Amino acid sequence: MSDGDYHLDTLNWRLRAIVGEENVSQMEPMSEHTTFRIGGPADLYVVPDDVEEVADVIAACREEHVPYFVLGCGSDLLVSDDGYRGVIVALADGLTNVSVDGEEMTCQAGVTLKEASEMACELGLSGLEFACGIPGSVGGACYMNAVAYDGCMADVLKEVRVLTPAGDVCDLGVDELDLGYRHSRIADEGLVVLSATFALTRADGEKIRQKMDDLTHRREEKQPLDLPSAGSTFKRPEGHFAGKLITDAGLRGYQVGGAAVSKKHAGFVVNVGGATAADVHAVIEHVQAEVERQFGVRLQPEVRFLG
Ligand SMILES: Cc1cc2nc3c(=O)[nH]c(=O)nc-3n(C[C@H](O)[C@H](O)[C@H](O)COP(=O)(O)OP(=O)(O)OC[C@H]3O[C@@H](n4cnc5c(N)ncnc54)[C@H](O)[C@@H]3O)c2cc1C
Repeated sequence: MSDGDYHLDTLNWRLRAIVGEENVSQMEPMSEHTTFRIGGPADLYVVPDDVEEVADVIAACREEHVPYFVLGCGSDLLVSDDGYRGVIVALADGLTNVSVDGEEMTCQAGVTLKEASEMACELGLSGLEFACGIPGSVGGACYMNAVAYDGCMADVLKEVRVLTPAGDVCDLGVDELDLGYRHSRIADEGLVVLSATFALTRADGEKIRQKMDDLTHRREEKQPLDLPSAGSTFKRPEGHFAGKLITDAGLRGYQVGGAAVSKKHAGFVVNVGGATAADVHAVIEHVQAEVERQFGVRLQPEVRFLG
């Protein structure tokens, strides 16, 4: 944080007053908060503990005209080597309550999909099996409309509680979220997901467990889970599979610095050791250029870039 930056300095004190000294850090390395294990420092990193604190933190950022970014589990993010100039509002450590009412389960935004699916399984509630291996938070999954195997968020969501940029809290039904492939109104309108309610169905806990075990097994067989990554690097191009195009282009294992196209699943760029964001960008750009040259298809990144 630069000494001359009045707004950030003021904001630093305001945020400490809202969430407590111990929940604000300066120059926080984002490599510790992303599954890629990549990313330079964020000016301020704030962990609100409840919905009121989230609203107050964001209001303070807006009043001080300092950019902010809402972070879940950092599993779909590539943060630049220079880091982020502004405030990271980290929800995965604070907003972690879950409540159950009959077949409906409401999870705060920071609950992980693994926790949510495990809890549903234990309660004999089916619907979230598809999500058990996605390493994201409920909030991030709503934002991205997470999808895996035979399920997606749109299938199980009933409604989400959001904070609008104006500071209002409101409930939006799933039909109001405009959920599509890697798309949501949440992203378009800069809404912050505070919690999500899932409409699940009663089922045999053993069957739910079997399905989750099967999907986990399939994931472990196909995906390079032993190396840091942000999952699928590219969106699925219409009529194609990104991984197949990349393999057919001869790019499996293509490496720049510490970043490489996974040899196990060419749709993933992995951090094979000490990768920088610049390394990952170089791999992404080469893959895009080569696949386009050979097959006329322009791959679009699924991973979100920050900083
Ligand atoms: C090994 C691996 C496997 C994966 N497999 C899958 C898969 O099968 N299917 C799939 O869909 N994805 C997959 N992913 C990608 C990723 O896990 C999902 O996109 C996930 O939903 C991102 O959630 P997150 O909490 O990590 O979000 P983050 O990476 O923290 O953030 C992603 C975006 O969501 C926004 N966001 C986060 N929380 C909120 C909130 N509360 N309110 C508003 N916006 C918010 C952020 O601002 C950011 O723009 C995989 C990733 C990895 C590393």
